[in-house]
Amino acid sequence: MGMKLIALASLALGVGAWNASAIQDPEVKVEIVKVTDQISMLVGEGGNIGIMNGADGLLMIDTQFAHMEAPIRTAIAEISAGNPAFVVNTHWHGDHVGGNLAFATDSYVVAHQNVRSRMKSGKPRGAPADPAALPDLTFGEGMTMHYNGQPVHLVHMPTGHTDGDTVVYFPQSNVVHMGDLMFNAMFPFVDIDSGGSVRGYLAALRSVYERVDDQTKIIPGHGKLASKKDLAEIIEMLESSIAMVEERIESGMTAQENVTAGISEKYASWSWRFIPTDKWLATVYRDLSAEKQGD
Ligand SMILES: [Zn+2]
Repeated sequence: MGMKLIALASLALGVGAWNASAIQDPEVKVEIVKVTDQISMLVGEGGNIGIMNGADGLLMIDTQFAHMEAPIRTAIAEISAGNPAFVVNTHWHGDHVGGNLAFATDSYVVAHQNVRSRMKSGKPRGAPADPAALPDLTFGEGMTMHYNGQPVHLVHMPTGHTDGDTVVYFPQSNVVHMGDLMFNAMFPFVDIDSGGSVRGYLAALRSVYERVDDQTKIIPGHGKLASKKDLAEIIEMLESSIAMVEERIESGMTAQENVTAGISEKYASWSWRFIPTDKWLATVYRDLSAEKQGD
């Protein structure tokens, strides 16, 4: 049943958008994590996807990579019939918008205006995106969609992970999708070149923390489904990293000495392939020392 749906979808998308290798690889799977009756988290390769379903149709948050189209469609078909009518992009990184071209065929793509401009130019890194993959609807500070019987608040968080991040709130379901403003129990990627900053990242987390409660289910950009408690731990890690590196800069430590000095053993397990401890410390140092020069 799932396979039939994929075959039909591929015909509708045309040859260019279809990646045959993905469907031939039985290893590529997308796991469905049920968050509430209406909301699911899809875990595959790249950023975690949020799916909301209901009487109006499907809303999808982020699209992972182009090669993940087939397993993503299989997972969506298990949740509900039909294609997503709306796709929200939490930010412009390739592991969150890579499937846009495939899904934009039957969806309106919604994102912060900086997501569109960075995808369009490809700056600061990468090639310009295919025009068909760009967001159709953009906003500044935020917007609210009224879909499937509840409001969906899209809130822009400036200068956090990038300059175009959106946090998606489902207040009635008590669910939040944080995009890459949350890496659960892993050092976060702060993309300074795309307008992100360590202090802005912390400010964004604090603002979400104020709006959620102990029952809120938080879909992180990367890592396991999270809670307010997990968010508190990241805030604590950021606060202590900032205080520690600030002190080191103050005392005249060089960038290399900061990396060599390391971080508390408490955070050893937060080091991961993409952001190992060294890279995390170097990012905090680069950001805070640039800030100092700007004074
Ligand atoms: Zn990202």
